[in-house]
Amino acid sequence: MELNFGPEYDDFRAEVRNFCNTLGKQTQHGSIRLGEFRPSQQMLDWQGTLIEHGYAARSIPKEYGGFGAKPDIVKSLIISEEFVRSGTRGGIQNQGISMLVPTFLEVGTEEQRQKYIKPTIHGDMIWCQGYSEPGSGSDLASLKTKGVVEGDNFIVNGQKVWTSSAQFSDMCFILVRTEPDAAKHHGISYLLMSMEEPGIEIRPLVTMTGEAFFNEMFLSDVKIPVGNIVGKRGEGWRVANVTLKYERGMIANPGASASGIRGVADMMHEETLSGVRAIDLPVFRDRLVKLQARSLANKYHGLRLLSNDINKESTGVEGLIVKLSATYLSYDIYSLAVDVLGEFGTLYDGSVYQRSKDWMRQYISSFMGIIGGGTAQIQKNVISERGLGLPREPLVKLDKNGWELLKK
Ligand SMILES: Cc1cc2nc3c(=O)[nH]c(=O)nc-3n(C[C@H](O)[C@H](O)[C@H](O)COP(=O)(O)OP(=O)(O)OC[C@H]3O[C@@H](n4cnc5c(N)ncnc54)[C@H](O)[C@@H]3O)c2cc1C
Repeated sequence: MELNFGPEYDDFRAEVRNFCNTLGKQTQHGSIRLGEFRPSQQMLDWQGTLIEHGYAARSIPKEYGGFGAKPDIVKSLIISEEFVRSGTRGGIQNQGISMLVPTFLEVGTEEQRQKYIKPTIHGDMIWCQGYSEPGSGSDLASLKTKGVVEGDNFIVNGQKVWTSSAQFSDMCFILVRTEPDAAKHHGISYLLMSMEEPGIEIRPLVTMTGEAFFNEMFLSDVKIPVGNIVGKRGEGWRVANVTLKYERGMIANPGASASGIRGVADMMHEETLSGVRAIDLPVFRDRLVKLQARSLANKYHGLRLLSNDINKESTGVEGLIVKLSATYLSYDIYSLAVDVLGEFGTLYDGSVYQRSKDWMRQYISSFMGIIGGGTAQIQKNVISERGLGLPREPLVKLDKNGWELLKK
């Protein structure tokens, strides 16, 4: 594999490294967790600086408030590597920026791009994702929230669940059944709902981190203008899948595993067990090295995707494994941290005895990636059926009489 990107890229790397070593070093502010809070003014200012230098919203056209560079995956990779290497804080990642903006660029209208992209990438407009419902998570296309056209509006009724950061959001991209007579995948529309509308009730759900990260969202006669639709009526499933593609990419960020391993390795140099540094204990060292190997495998797999993309040689299956392998890797990295620290590893948020970092929070949070954006089991189904061409899983129905096989 050719890993030298050439002199143009060496210059670019030097430029990014210089930015990280100067401006990057001056920005010591707390982190924002994915989709959780509204960004502080400091975060918004840093986001502005990153966009100005082309280290966030890099390939978003200038007319939509981005940096306006030609898409170049190698440069994006270099930025990510240099930011991780130097510990420089990257741009804001949330559902609006990482999932909806690319959806607008791929399938939105010009009016939607003009109206929404700039405030979203600058962190001024926060979005939540109204997909899951009770009983419609993995089987998302069975969703029941209803939208009926009355005059200039859809009138929406139903319930969503696990809606991350709904309580902090200005807008929601929401899936609604608007064509009740169509087959389930063809009756859904993808709408843009203002969270200011009357009829939206948000009930926070407390997760095992102790925080109300996501919510139940009850909708009673909520008005959404008929123009607030992405794609056509009844074609929302296709648009929803465009967004899901970007969601999986966001969750499987390779930079995150590299910086996670680095953090655990640093901690293992500091911590001792019976006077021996954790890094020198074979049982932990062995696990660390295996994780490093998996992280490198993911990185080189990313490069393989890159060359396939450039050479237009994608077979499809290689892109499907990324979320599955990255999320399990993240889980295994933080499991190691918790195991190394023994009883200290179980301490949580603000304990005076806590060591170096909130490892237990990282560990618990790593479950989120395995479930969110489609569970690991669903990813495995997708890989086997769509990627490897194995037989589809049989369709079964469960009622009081037991299981019934609907389709083999
Ligand atoms: C941190 C986090 C944030 C989230 N944020 C949002 C959000 O902002 N907006 C939103 O709409 N949703 C959000 N979700 C919801 C998420 O998309 C769903 O949890 C996920 O799709 C699974 O759906 P479910 O919870 O209904 O589980 P279910 O679909 O009920 O699945 C339960 C279990 O059964 C397994 N299973 C189900 N069907 C199959 C099958 N066919 N084959 C094999 N196994 C199967 C699943 O893998 C899982 O283990 C979030 C979830 C998490 C964890």
